[in-house]
Amino acid sequence: MATSGSARKRLLKEADMSTVEFKTSEEVDVTPTFDTMGLREDLLRGIYAYGFENPSAIQQRATKQIIKGRDVIAQSQSGTGKTATFTISVLQCLDTQGLLALGDYMNVQCHACIGGTNVGEDIRRLDYGQHVVSGTPGRVFDMIRRGSLRTRAIKMLVLDEADEMLNKGFKDQIYDVYRYLPPATQVVLISATLPQEILEMTTKFMTDPIRILLKRDELTLEGVRQFFVAVEREEWKFDTLCDLYDTLTITQAVIFCNTRRKVDWLAEKMREANFTVCSMHGDMPQKERECVAKEFRAGASRVLISTDVWARGLDVPQVSLIINYDLPNNRELYIHRIGRSGRYGRKGVAINFVKNDDIRILRDIEQYYSTQIDEMPVNVADLI
Ligand code: ADP
Ligand code: MG
Repeated sequence: MATSGSARKRLLKEADMSTVEFKTSEEVDVTPTFDTMGLREDLLRGIYAYGFENPSAIQQRATKQIIKGRDVIAQSQSGTGKTATFTISVLQCLDTQGLLALGDYMNVQCHACIGGTNVGEDIRRLDYGQHVVSGTPGRVFDMIRRGSLRTRAIKMLVLDEADEMLNKGFKDQIYDVYRYLPPATQVVLISATLPQEILEMTTKFMTDPIRILLKRDELTLEGVRQFFVAVEREEWKFDTLCDLYDTLTITQAVIFCNTRRKVDWLAEKMREANFTVCSMHGDMPQKERECVAKEFRAGASRVLISTDVWARGLDVPQVSLIINYDLPNNRELYIHRIGRSGRYGRKGVAINFVKNDDIRILRDIEQYYSTQIDEMPVNVADLI
């Protein structure tokens, strides 16, 4: 898969969407064990040492296709090992003879380029040489433009949470990055939610991709029970939350609000009422965010109040309860938020606070995903 030395920039292809039919998943080979995936010995060792025994359904289907070098679009529910899928595939495809624990035996150099952190440190780490670079689109492009991240030897571009990466906010930055990649670069797209308009865009930058997709009614996790509490008015949400506090702390919980201000307000109000909570949102300095995330991951704090910065991708296995203090602004976010619980087959509970005029939105979500959202039972704590 070595690429030519050409600095030719990639351009988006013209696509005739009228002939393209999505939402059909292809029949792909299923590889039921890690042993039979043809993985390198040192990677296999890392996988088992990390505690994985058998591959999940998406890993059984997508890993081999990515390793083969195909462009791949892979969808599967939250917490089913998608991120681990491409992590394993990326490690397999590296040119090395030491990401992450899975690569512990491979001596892989990895670096995350994250907006809001020290630029000089990124430059230094990239100059040193890295096998895998992950990052936020803006910072990654910045590193390319400065010549610190040289793209000539890049083999694979992975867009995890692909629909978010191709949404308005990031799309241009992703395209900026894409233009600098060698023409032969393999493209892999991963997400729990891949709405039609996003799938349609993929024809412009992917080549005959394998599609492993889910239907809408397969998207919610069976292990995550969904409920609502009718609060009628905004003012009543707070007392409802306080009543639930003991339930929140049975393991760990995330409470979602729609705005940064509301997160600050609610965290403050909870603390005034002598409840222990931590909180995070995008206005906080990156250092502080990292600090809160670390504390929460370690279990030092049990209740996190957050905006949708926490809605996608983040994996804290101990989280078993999600509260939508505000209903999310779109259907995809609903799936990602509730998917913070019930990680890798664990049980989870999601509770939606609904005002009178929210009931319609909740019913819409319920119908769209063919799922069931009942009124919260009194014994909800027993379900966690
Ligand atoms: P997703 O990206 O689909 O939300 P992740 O890749 O973050 O899921 O995986 C969710 C959790 O499951 C993580 O804690 C991960 O370590 C674990 N996991 C992933 N694959 C396996 C596996 N094959 N066996 C056991 N645990 C796994
Ligand atoms: Mg993920």
